[in-house]
Parts: sequence; structure tokens; C-alpha cells
Amino acid sequence: MTLDIPFDNTFAQLPPEFYSRQAPTPVGEPKLLAYNEALGSTLGIGTAALDVRAEVFSGNVVPTGAAPLAQLYAGHQFGSFNPQLGDGRAILMGEVVGADGLRRDIQLKGAGRTPYSRGGDGRAWMGPVLREYVISEAMHALGIPTTRALAAVSTGEMVWREGGLPGAVLTRVAKSHLRVGTFQVYASRGQVEALKTLTDYAIARHYPEAEGRMGLLRAVRDAQVELIAAWMSVGFIHGVMNTDNSSIAGETIDYGPCAFMDVYHPSRVFSSIDRMGRYAYSNQPNIAVWNLAQLATALIQQYDASEAVVEEATEIVHAMPDLLEVAWLQRFRAKLGITTAQDEDMELITDLMRAMAEGQADFTNSFRALVDGGARDQFLDPAAFDLWEPRWRHRLEGEPDPEAVMRAANPVLIPRNHRIEQMIASAVAGDMAPFERLMAALANPFEARAEFEDLRRPPAEEEVVKATFCGT
Ligand code: AMP
Ligand code: MG
Repeated sequence: MTLDIPFDNTFAQLPPEFYSRQAPTPVGEPKLLAYNEALGSTLGIGTAALDVRAEVFSGNVVPTGAAPLAQLYAGHQFGSFNPQLGDGRAILMGEVVGADGLRRDIQLKGAGRTPYSRGGDGRAWMGPVLREYVISEAMHALGIPTTRALAAVSTGEMVWREGGLPGAVLTRVAKSHLRVGTFQVYASRGQVEALKTLTDYAIARHYPEAEGRMGLLRAVRDAQVELIAAWMSVGFIHGVMNTDNSSIAGETIDYGPCAFMDVYHPSRVFSSIDRMGRYAYSNQPNIAVWNLAQLATALIQQYDASEAVVEEATEIVHAMPDLLEVAWLQRFRAKLGITTAQDEDMELITDLMRAMAEGQADFTNSFRALVDGGARDQFLDPAAFDLWEPRWRHRLEGEPDPEAVMRAANPVLIPRNHRIEQMIASAVAGDMAPFERLMAALANPFEARAEFEDLRRPPAEEEVVKATFCGT
């Protein structure tokens, strides 16, 4: 018996220069660790016994209608161009159109080697698989565009990283896996026809309303602007904003060494290899602009480099910092309960954040405490907050319902890094209870519930996770 998945594949119909057909490599002893029933039902995936799901979402059984393939892409990694990356351990099984009318990719991550694996083993271990599962679903519950997690399966095989670790496969669901790097690969090779085909495909799939030669660039920019502003508003650090991890559909994608901040600091990084702070919290808007410039450079290659096209692309990219500021301001005004715009708002927000950084205030708890009470207790030295608070109270005069606005903009719960690490340690030891509990709590991140009070607590000194690693 297999699983009924209503595949309807379009990417697999594109010419062969876009991918390599590649079936998943079977694993020894697949066991279902987690399955997202709600998402599965939106996607129209049939019900099945646990072992059938484990067979399909480990890649051991290729369901009817799937057209497994590895996608080709390139990318700037930490600023330097790698002309050929591609899915080295991920396999696109196909697409489905969900009950909500949305077309989505179903991809197995950690499903074995592909022609793009280079030196890698094509596998993933349980830690990053469960981290991505929890964080991506938490992100979704926070209302932020993201790839989703459908299933996690342990493989019964070891993978070798710093030592031997239990292997796992993540089933990831995305609006698509088209990246800035997908365009870069054909642009850098001078494959103009492929670039045109890809551009048409991306517009038809994601932005059918896009107009003109640079319509795609403008649409991606606007989606990225909203995404980055949303990340900033919850203290999220992606960690590896390489152009191959930058989604054309504007979703958060590729949860590697990412994290939500505990104590606020603008230059916080999480990746152990990000020594220059390229992907630090406060540098994310700059990097998003940089990545868009790379997309512009790639897209231009398909037009006779007429001045008009270059000018239009330049204008689109150059407008991005201002748009980011507008989106950022809107998010952070809401965090303070403000729905109107005044010139001094920027200063009001940045003054609070400077006090937070100096006072080593917890990002999530400080903002939430503005509405729940106890904000000054979040600061090591509350003097700066005490000076700031009356300005803020004054600014709120005339706001109809600032408390409701703040409760909707300031989550109670985020997936804190130390909880994720504790959850992974338990899962490796065979105990999925902390995973289940985190998932239950993070499903309603704006709600304060007594049973999950402990999950609001920042890490104790010995619990602080300094960096998460790329060894995923
Ligand atoms: P990432 O840092 O996860 O975005 O991955 C960067 C590139 O390395 C992508 O092309 C991945 O497919 C590839 N990659 C990462 N880990 C592995 C692995 N274990 N085996 C093969 N390729 C990998
Ligand atoms: Mg990647």
C-alpha cells in the first residue's frame, strides 16, 4: 500500500537543464518522528498507517505521480560566487495544489546523494531536521512567510559529522524552491534561453500580475521587504542569507544556523563561520538589498543590455532600502501600540532599542512586557527605560486600542535556542515529548498560557547557545 498524494508537477516539465532526475536513496529503518496532519490535509494527502508514511517520507517508496529530481542552482556564499551548487541532499518529489488553491513543492531533505552533492553525503541528522521542523512551523504560527514542515522520519542509519549521529529526513513544503541562485546559474553561463524560460515560469507561478521586463524583480523585492521586516520584528536571525537561500517566493527558507535572539543586540550572529558579521541581525536588510542586486544582475542578462532595462533594474534595487524602512517602521510601531505615523517614531523606537541593547534586555519578553507589564524589570539598569517610557505614553495618547495592537505584534513565545537544543538532545535519546510540547506551545505564540510559562524564560547562563553550526 502506498500513500495517495495528488501530484501535479510543473517544474519537472521544464527542459532538462534545470535539474537532474534523481530518486531518493532508500534508508535502513524509517520511523515517523513527526507528521503535520493539518498541513497534510490542506495538501490533499490521504491518510495512511504510520509505517506507510514513514516509507514515503523517508524516500523508500516513491509514490505514484512523483517525479523526483534535484534542482540546479548557483549562489553567492558569504559574498563569493559559487557557479554551481544545486540540491546536494534534497530531492523535489513534485508539486500539489492544495485545498486553498496554492501550488506547493514537496521536497525530501536528507534523501541521499545527487549529482550536485560534491563531497557531501546527501544526508541530514536528526538535530537540524527537528530544528527546522519546529522553527519553520513556529514561524508560520507567527504569521511570517516560510517553508513548512510536513514530516520528519528517522532513518535508522548513522550520519558522520563531528561523530556519528542519528540520520533523519525532513519533508519540506514550499511555494517553490526557486532561489536567486537559480537565476544566477543560467546568467553566469550565458544561457539566455534558459533564463527566459525560468523567468516566465517564476512569473506564471508566483507573480502572474507582474508587468514589464522587470516586473519579477519588483515583485520579489516587495516580497523580500515584507519578509525581512517580519524577521526583524521578532528578533529572528537567518544566519546564512546566501543568494541560494533567498527565495523568489519570499518565504523564509533553509533553516541552518538560525535563531531567535534572547538578549537583544544589533550585531548578534549565530553562524559559527560568520566571523565578519555579514549576516548579523541588524545587517539583514542590507543583505536583502545586496541579494536583490544579484537577482537584478542575473535577470538583465536576458535583455540586450539596453540602458532602459539597466536603469529600471537599478531604480528597483535602489528603492529597496526606503521600502525596508517603511515596512520596518510599520512593524515596530505596532510593537509599541502605534497605528499612525509621526516623524519622531523612528527615534522613539531606536531609543528604546538602544536602551534594550545597553540594558541587556530580552528581545521578546521586553516588547511583550510593554503591554503585559513589568517592562522596566527587563533592563539591567532601568534608568534609560524610565526616561523613555513617558515619551512613549505621551505618543500613545489618541491611539484607540494600543493594547490589542501590541498583543497582536508581540509574541509571548518564540522557539528559544536552548529549548531547541534540549528538545534535540531528548529526541536523540528517543524521547519526543519535549518536541510535542514545543510544537503545542508554539502553535499559539501570541497567547500567554500558564502551562507554558517556563518556555518564556530566557536561558540561564549555562543554557545559552552561542552558535549553531553549518554542519547540518
Ligand atoms: P546550505 O548551507 O544547507 O544552504 O547548503 C549549501 C549547499 O551545500 C547546497 O547545495 C546543499 O545541497 C549542499 N549540502 C549541504 N549539506 C550537504 C550534504 N550533507 N550532502 C550533500 N550536499 C550538501
Ligand atoms: Mg541552502
